[in-house]
Amino acid sequence: MRSRKVKKTASKSSLYWYAIIAVMLILVALIIAIVMQKNGLFSKVQQPIEQIPEVVIEQPIKEEQPAVPAHEVDENGYIKNQTLPKEPTYINGILIASKRYPMPADFAPGEQPEAKEAKDKMLADAKKAGFILDAFSGYRSYDYQKTLYENYVARDGQDAADRYSARPGYSEHQTGLVYDIGEVGKESLWLTETFGETEAGRWLRDHAHHYGFIMRYPQGKEDITGYMYESWHFRYVGVEVATTIFEQQSTLEEYLGVQ
Ligand SMILES: [Zn+2]
Repeated sequence: MRSRKVKKTASKSSLYWYAIIAVMLILVALIIAIVMQKNGLFSKVQQPIEQIPEVVIEQPIKEEQPAVPAHEVDENGYIKNQTLPKEPTYINGILIASKRYPMPADFAPGEQPEAKEAKDKMLADAKKAGFILDAFSGYRSYDYQKTLYENYVARDGQDAADRYSARPGYSEHQTGLVYDIGEVGKESLWLTETFGETEAGRWLRDHAHHYGFIMRYPQGKEDITGYMYESWHFRYVGVEVATTIFEQQSTLEEYLGVQ
């Protein structure tokens, strides 16, 4: 009887101890779990699983963004894969048209009356100084430039055409503020660097700013303007701006602080 009782007690007490150990193990497990959660050990494991889809979605968008800020340009100075904008670009009220800042195809302001008046006055004063000048090329519409450029491409190929002709939407002549000027009787020097070395060319270079014009693509500024020296191409910007640019021997890009 006694031994049976003892045996029964022993088994009862061992069950009791098993229960205590089990409860303690559960408590220890709980404490470990709480500590792990507090230290972010669970979330560290979970985070990558949550982030992977976000990263996969973000990456292609970043790659597809236009390379305008990086100014990734081709060998002819055009921004790669650039499409024409919906509006022309004005900076401080000044229209800028270049390989970096093209114009929409439907931007067709025509010859600007203020620029025309200033040009007429300039050519009249040039005549008084003994130089008969002709503004042989002024406003060109998008469509006209397109025809011009496509004919050049058909004749010489795109690479060659890009060197001397602007692509449609990129010609400053589309602004209606620009004139190509040469001397009457010396037509063989029109559109040549040599015109800039003639007396007429020098008069124009030194006086254009009094009428609000700048020599738009001066010598030694090819990297800034994107164009080779053009002794004949004058852009109307108004007397004040033209005088500042002339005195600083700078360019429209430098004046506006753009590249
Ligand atoms: Zn021109």
